[in-house]
Formats: sequence, structure tokens, C-alpha cells
Amino acid sequence: MIETTHATGMKVEEKLFQNRYLVDAGRPHIKVLPHDKPSKALLALTHACPAGCYAENERGQVEITADGCMECGTCRIMTAKTGEIEWNYPRGGFGILYKFG
Ligand code: SF4
Repeated sequence: MIETTHATGMKVEEKLFQNRYLVDAGRPHIKVLPHDKPSKALLALTHACPAGCYAENERGQVEITADGCMECGTCRIMTAKTGEIEWNYPRGGFGILYKFG
């Protein structure tokens, strides 16, 4: 893993840890649509998602746990052509709560 240090001397990981996330239980804002074999784009999300929300299961399919999602949109863009995910913003009051500074 690449360690990146911010001008404050804090690691980016330490700064991200200060954010808070409110889970909308039972209503994930991103869904992976049912599939037998993921496209390369979908599979790549197991490495590309900065929040580590995507994982490959034992059947080789890709699953998402949207808790901790930073709403960066990377997965939405990467699968725009394959249409393998359903992406929405979380309902008001849920999702990431950024702490700036
Ligand atoms: S929007 Fe960004 S942080 Fe959220 S699941 Fe997609 S890639 Fe991960």
C-alpha cells in the first residue's frame, strides 16, 4: 500500500478515519446486479474502490458492502459501459459525513 502524507503531517488514512458514516440499514445506495462472471471493470473495483467496499466471493462474483462508501463515483464511472451496478446517492441524512480541515 502507498502511504500518502498530508501537509499537516497526518497520513491520508488517518484523516479519512475522522469521517463518520451513517448506515441506512437494509437500503444500500449501491447494488451490484446479479451476474455469473464479473466484467474486468467490475472485478477491478475490488482494488480500485478507495473505501474497500467491493470484494470477490468464493464463486468469483463481486459483492458490495456500501458501508463506508465515500461517494467518489469511481465505481459508477468504471461500470458505466457494463451497467453492472445500480448507483444512487444515499437518502438525506445517511452516508458519509466528511470532516474537513
Ligand atoms: S462511490 Fe467510490 S467509495 Fe463508494 S463504492 Fe464506489 S468506488 Fe467505492
